[in-house]
Amino acid sequence: MKKALLVVDYTVDFVAEDGLLTCGLPGQKLEQAITTLTKDFLAQGDAVFFINDLHEEGDTFHPEHKLFPPHNIRGTAGRNMYGALHDIYQANPAIIWLDKTRYSAFAGTNLFMLLRERDIETLHIVGVCTDICILHTCIDAYNLGYTTFVHEAGVASFNEQAHDFALAHIKNSLGFTII
Ligand code: ZN
Repeated sequence: MKKALLVVDYTVDFVAEDGLLTCGLPGQKLEQAITTLTKDFLAQGDAVFFINDLHEEGDTFHPEHKLFPPHNIRGTAGRNMYGALHDIYQANPAIIWLDKTRYSAFAGTNLFMLLRERDIETLHIVGVCTDICILHTCIDAYNLGYTTFVHEAGVASFNEQAHDFALAHIKNSLGFTII
């Protein structure tokens, strides 16, 4: 069964100390685990997706407009991958970059079609935040019937309680494997 690694929102704005909507140290601590997973998947010829939030400057119609300060604005360095992942992306044309505009990696993207084309039925998910974009992506993966693994060393949130809740929900209510 073919598998893919989904790295969700591991961008400068969401992770770096000076990111515009950063989850801070918990996110920065994931760098090694996400780097290792990315290299392993690439080495094995498995698909790797970097799926990142995209906003337009001054977009007052977006539902996040009322919820969060501006972040991940098109054309800004805040949209670059954080840390070592930036160079890895530059050096590996096999990595598939997708822009998303909602929490779930499936919402409004062609992720589902790209997975179908590649006969991928198993997902490995990492990134931030556990209780927002990871959770929403997992719920869509559940509804679409994917066998899914969430790597505990590869997900984090600014809110530890919400992180714990999300992992418990993903395990107990979606039936996914936390590894
Ligand atoms: Zn956003």
